[in-house]
Amino acid sequence: MPGKGNRKRVVVIGGGFAGLNVVKGLDKRLFQIVLIDRHNYHQFQPLYYQVATSGLEPSSIGFAFRKTLRKMGEIHFRMCTALSVDTNVNRLETSIGYIDYDYLIIASGTYTNYMGNKDLEHCTMSLKTLPESINVRNNVLRSFEKAINSHSEAEAESLLSFVIVGGGPTGVELAGALSELRRYTLPKDYNQDKSLSQMKIYLLDTAPRLLGGMSEFSSKKAYKYLQEMGVEIMLNTMVKGYTDGKIELNDGRSIASCNVFWVAGVAGRIFPGLDNDVYGRNNRIKVDGCNRVENSSNLFAIGDVCLMTSDPAYPHGHPQVAQAAIQQGKNLVHNLNKGDQKPFRYTDRGSMATVGRNKAVVEFRKIHFGGFVAWILWLFVHLMAIVGVKNKTFVLLNWGWSYFTHDTSLRLLIRMDNKNADK
Ligand SMILES: Cc1cc2nc3c(=O)[nH]c(=O)nc-3n(C[C@H](O)[C@H](O)[C@H](O)COP(=O)(O)OP(=O)(O)OC[C@H]3O[C@@H](n4cnc5c(N)ncnc54)[C@H](O)[C@@H]3O)c2cc1C
Repeated sequence: MPGKGNRKRVVVIGGGFAGLNVVKGLDKRLFQIVLIDRHNYHQFQPLYYQVATSGLEPSSIGFAFRKTLRKMGEIHFRMCTALSVDTNVNRLETSIGYIDYDYLIIASGTYTNYMGNKDLEHCTMSLKTLPESINVRNNVLRSFEKAINSHSEAEAESLLSFVIVGGGPTGVELAGALSELRRYTLPKDYNQDKSLSQMKIYLLDTAPRLLGGMSEFSSKKAYKYLQEMGVEIMLNTMVKGYTDGKIELNDGRSIASCNVFWVAGVAGRIFPGLDNDVYGRNNRIKVDGCNRVENSSNLFAIGDVCLMTSDPAYPHGHPQVAQAAIQQGKNLVHNLNKGDQKPFRYTDRGSMATVGRNKAVVEFRKIHFGGFVAWILWLFVHLMAIVGVKNKTFVLLNWGWSYFTHDTSLRLLIRMDNKNADK
């Protein structure tokens, strides 16, 4: 790492919504900034499900850090994974060596939480990174190709059964997108193979309603939309495990499926070197009102990974959404740049989820609505949040194309084969 002169070195782990806002806003005259991330690109997670269902190209929602950071002044990016921290000597261990810091900001987000169930971890698909979204897309497309060649009814049924575990926004959006694939795309692509009309989509949740973090109004609307779209919704249903190609449920039933998506929760990951006491619910790192990690002076945690209970309106912690991560990043920038101790207060800018074409739900304070206007608003908000004019244009073009043609154009099954496979 080049010399830092008399500046303090700030090392930021993770270039997600939280980390990116920090490195952008910190005063480069006061701080030497080092951003590390295990990927070389920033990811726009809200649209993973569209990559997974062939609606968008991965490159439209991934942004190379080196290009994004170019316009933000002097920032040193290193692609590596943070492994552990030694708080006694202010040193971070990473997959490429050690980095000394004056301030360490942990903005590493969360990982899929399988609740310790190894079978589910190995046998189900998740949607928490861009590579995982591409993996889902490949598996979905491969299942269709296999199903039309299958001579076994049981095998075809399993290939064409898509089980989504988790009825939050991601589960609802994925179920809606798969249902649209079944309605609009499969009949065109596989018009001689009527068997694909057997495709089934199940959406499971342990809770008594979908979209548990939103209002009763939005839950009911999403339920109605999905039911109309032919999704089988199973509430109050807990998954016990996955054995012999079957999802086993708490009521004794099972569903044979080769395509099980686990979008039922997230958790932080333990960083060796931090005290065990700093971890709260789902391994979120406990922080004070200024995002300082408990019992430390130069360690901070922001975004999904942190748990702050001092904001009076959110005594159980903030929702793990992009706005909370962005706002925490900006508040920390203010405090570090100004040497201030301004406590963080989350401003809720509303929440929304889309179910399919012309169908979405939006909530802003006491105003709740659904349908076409909600859907247009969802499109607009997500389009504006995407980084870069080129990406915005490509996403808009893809959406426009799909809307008017009832078709998606990205159904290539591209995977790393044996390099001799084509010979
Ligand atoms: C499928 C999906 C849909 C979503 N939809 C919405 C939505 O519609 N609206 C909304 O507001 N929110 C949505 N969210 C939540 C939102 O994406 C998160 O709240 C937000 O990304 C949190 O930002 P963050 O910066 O804390 O973490 P992240 O954005 O997760 O960024 C963490 C970064 O840290 C890096 N990293 C992790 N561990 C390490 C390590 N050990 N070493 C180095 N780098 C590391 C990762 O590569 C990543 O770049 C969705 C999330 C998912 C998964």
